[in-house]
Amino acid sequence: MKGLLLFITFLTSLFAANAQSEVVLENILVVDVKKGALLDSSQDIVIANGKIKEVIKAGTYSGDGLVIECSGQYLIPGLWDMHAHPDDPEMWRMNPTAERRDQLMPLFVLYGVTGIRDMAGDLNVINRWRKEIEDGNLLGPEIVAGGPLIDGPNPMWDGSIGIPSTERVKFKVDSLIDAGVDFLKIYSLLPDSIYFALSEYANSIDFPFVGHVPLDVTTLEAAESGMKSQEHLLNLLMDCSPHQEDFYNKTIDYGDVTGRLARYIYRSDLMIETYDPEKAEELFRSYVENESWHTPTISMWYKNAYFEREVRVDEAHIKYLPPYMREYWTPEVNDHLQLRDPGFLALKKRLVDKYLEVIGEMNQAGVKLLAGTDVGANPLCFPGLSLHYELEMLVEAGLTAGEALKTATFNPAEFLNVTERYGSIDEGKVADLVILSSNPLNDITNTRKIVGVIRNGTYYSGIEISNRMNEIADFQKK
Ligand SMILES: [Zn+2]
Repeated sequence: MKGLLLFITFLTSLFAANAQSEVVLENILVVDVKKGALLDSSQDIVIANGKIKEVIKAGTYSGDGLVIECSGQYLIPGLWDMHAHPDDPEMWRMNPTAERRDQLMPLFVLYGVTGIRDMAGDLNVINRWRKEIEDGNLLGPEIVAGGPLIDGPNPMWDGSIGIPSTERVKFKVDSLIDAGVDFLKIYSLLPDSIYFALSEYANSIDFPFVGHVPLDVTTLEAAESGMKSQEHLLNLLMDCSPHQEDFYNKTIDYGDVTGRLARYIYRSDLMIETYDPEKAEELFRSYVENESWHTPTISMWYKNAYFEREVRVDEAHIKYLPPYMREYWTPEVNDHLQLRDPGFLALKKRLVDKYLEVIGEMNQAGVKLLAGTDVGANPLCFPGLSLHYELEMLVEAGLTAGEALKTATFNPAEFLNVTERYGSIDEGKVADLVILSSNPLNDITNTRKIVGVIRNGTYYSGIEISNRMNEIADFQKK
């Protein structure tokens, strides 16, 4: 027994030594995501100790590291999903087990997503993931996390922090910061008075807050009060309509339209029909001036509006998900899939079209955008895979492929203030990288053509990626 243990220790140290030695991506075409262009000539990328040690002209590497021949292949920084909920409180009712839930972590990386901004989940679970990932016991992305949602006195979801009054703001915020959150995630039902008290307090201690613009707050107020990122384009269309006041005050003249659903549709149609480009332009300027970023999560809106069709498109990917998630992504149980009558669906599709237009205009106006998927409870928002969908839809909205790629690489690093470590392929940065067989600047769908991933300096070949994917599918089948 002792001999076996010694042998295992010997093997482990061998692997550790191997992991420590240099890995060289030889003769690869590097995408400069800041410029949206390829570097002029092929490079050798030397990786050691989890970092990019050197970016040198191809053919000039002379060490004895593990060489991976990458001729004709393309290198991008690891992608970030800036709106993720792998431990979505909304799915807790499905009783997810830790073992099944943990297998969502490798999926991100295997699809090229090496970093996520967690936008609500149990901080204990997230901290355990962070530790296991850091210790090398679980393959997973870098995680930046906000912990629980901050909502009004009667929160919408389990696990949220409800703030009942302005007097409680300081205590609640302080306890979240003590618990180790990286930022505060605001939710929809937070009353405006409490929201403003919170923004004032957070600003006074220079702590970032992001999230849903609450129902009673305008996107301009959110930007001016320092909300660092606004999610899902919420409230934006109301703010671009001359009927803005009526929407917020709920004093719309519905004529003879009755019924809650019919009125909702009427109201949304009115927003789209009365969209005022000048009002919008002014608003976008305020986002830029106040450095209020936007995460449209357009693929989430799209997958919901077209669920009936898309559930077939995505059929092949469902097998990688834990059973509780597969089950939650069905109309029978999913809160987001209620109200599927034709009138409402047509409205959702019109909204997607309008949002695509708006995203294009925001980009033109210089509003800083982040790629995010809302992976979690929202149907067909997959760990990893959906980030590629999001990039494709951003291109559909009018971004160039290079601009779209930036929303998932350099922009997240800039937003999170970690450009020293992430966001581009430069010496000294963390070796989170994705190798592609085709140029993503020519066609954004090429980000899906992954032939290798490097996470924190460890290389995963294409074969290893598909083996691991198969293992996950097998595990989730049982
Ligand atoms: Zn979300």
